[in-house]
Amino acid sequence: MNDISLTHLSSNRSLTGDGGAAIAVRDVGKAFQGRVVLERISCDVPKGQFVVLLGPSGCGKSTLFRCLTRLIEPDSGTVTMHGTEVTSLRPAALKALRREVGFVFQQFNLVKRFSAIDNVLAARLATMPLWQVLLRRFSEQDRQLALACLDSVGLIDQAYQRAERLSGGQQQRVAIARAFAQQAELILADEPISSLDPESSENVLQILQRAARERGFTVLCSLHQVDLAVRFADRIIALRRGRLFFDGPATAFTSDLREELYRAQRA
Ligand code: ADP
Ligand code: MG
Repeated sequence: MNDISLTHLSSNRSLTGDGGAAIAVRDVGKAFQGRVVLERISCDVPKGQFVVLLGPSGCGKSTLFRCLTRLIEPDSGTVTMHGTEVTSLRPAALKALRREVGFVFQQFNLVKRFSAIDNVLAARLATMPLWQVLLRRFSEQDRQLALACLDSVGLIDQAYQRAERLSGGQQQRVAIARAFAQQAELILADEPISSLDPESSENVLQILQRAARERGFTVLCSLHQVDLAVRFADRIIALRRGRLFFDGPATAFTSDLREELYRAQRA
């Protein structure tokens, strides 16, 4: 499989280095039944970086993730993605924007009875009718792309294995291959390793890190494990009880800060 070019997997629009923000969050607030869960959050996710949204369980990571593409409507503030103000989009444009995002979920969200390659292809053809997916009307080019994506997550040997027969780590790698095949410029991964063993977790984080470093994807990934965030992320955005606690290069997330966040977890 190594002879298949992977260069086209990266977005041609935002292969970056230009230092812009893929996502700009300004004063985003959210409350549930009067309880404030996000308090005026402002942060940027720079293009082409692997950014970890870090914080203890319940600090608001998933809520912020959902606010980014308005799966939850924020009460206040704005979100801008690649220059488009998401928070003012009408439903049709919002739907189109969501198709430009590769979502990776905690529970993988694969079609379990589909093979790995069909799961990747299904996302590739997300805009086409389901019957075409079911009848496997894929072009040879699409197949080659899907195989290249599976190869890049180390799963070429499992391409025709049903998703339900793969391990959790392998399923999550299929989900990442699906995001690659979508040629999304942005990958949003909310706690993608929370149900994986340590070895699979590191493997998945390495793949996401490489997606940013070698291919120019922007990856925002939430985690609650400080050590893994520091080891893998280019940048860390940390939340504590719905407030921004830290936003900067992972190398600047000192042990003092780690301890403070840890103390906050126990408080
Ligand atoms: P995290 O992902 O960091 O664990 P969440 O964003 O899931 O945190 O949750 C933040 C807080 O908001 C938690 O206290 C949670 O109980 C609360 N919460 C999340 N979603 C809802 C909801 N739909 N209704 C009410 N409370 C919610
Ligand atoms: Mg969460």
